[in-house]
Amino acid sequence: MKKYDFKIHLASHFGMCFGVRDAIIKTRDSFGVKGLTILGQLVHNPIVSEELNRNGVQKADLQKPANEIKGTVVITAHGASTKDKKAWESNDRKIIDTTCPLVHKAHQALNQLVASGYFPVVIGKKDHAEVKGLIGDFPRSLVVQTDADIPNVPDKKKIGIVSQTTQRIDKVELIVESIRSFRKDSDVKFVDTVCAPTKNRQTSAQELSKRCDLVFVVGGTNSNNTIQLVNTIKEFGSHPIHIQRASDIDPCWLEGYYNVGLTAGTSTLKETVMEVYETLEVISQNKFSNKKENIVC
Ligand code: SF4
Repeated sequence: MKKYDFKIHLASHFGMCFGVRDAIIKTRDSFGVKGLTILGQLVHNPIVSEELNRNGVQKADLQKPANEIKGTVVITAHGASTKDKKAWESNDRKIIDTTCPLVHKAHQALNQLVASGYFPVVIGKKDHAEVKGLIGDFPRSLVVQTDADIPNVPDKKKIGIVSQTTQRIDKVELIVESIRSFRKDSDVKFVDTVCAPTKNRQTSAQELSKRCDLVFVVGGTNSNNTIQLVNTIKEFGSHPIHIQRASDIDPCWLEGYYNVGLTAGTSTLKETVMEVYETLEVISQNKFSNKKENIVC
């Protein structure tokens, strides 16, 4: 009797988006430049971080400009506030700005809302680099991460809302509705800044959850959109397993499953997803051979 007997279903949209891809390409083009420094984490992906380390790329805190850092610094795909960008400007430095165009659009949307007299609200994770960049030029703004933050929305005539680009649009819309109910007398304007790659991957994850009893989600443990995919799969009735790379897979997890899904966050390299796919294929053919084969599941 075969120990493993499952089909693998790959999500229709998965893995690295154009914004992260282009940020990595621009950074790789500068490998070898003396003192190349990333301001923050280029992407939330441990494999890319390891590649940067191997190539001698330094890291610094975007919010703490350091005089001793000269040469070339990189603004990540998550973007930065104008204030933070200006603080790094110096005759001793070249700045490579890899901000994703869709993060730029979120900045523009928030700027326009503020210019039109709206109080700025950002729906997203308070400690995320993109959110810090969005609110960085507006010290009197508010970040709403969960419903628990809604009572903090001030009593203003005009409230303008944008979202972190990698939030789930269904959750964002619920929060917007709650803000509208809480501030009934305010003019609440919402500009949808959740990016298309995030939406596509979310929709595909929902479809996958309906077809599969187990779904592997590949991505960094601190990648917001990867975590959102894990949550979606759980909510849509399947069982997610969050891994960062193929070597994380324990074949024991797969015993008794017939339909296994595979998806990945927007910062996950295609090669990493393909390695996971190939590992699952080997297990499904009962040809798995490494030290884990002797594990009694
Ligand atoms: S997840 Fe969306 S906003 Fe972020 S880098 Fe990718 S395309 Fe751009």
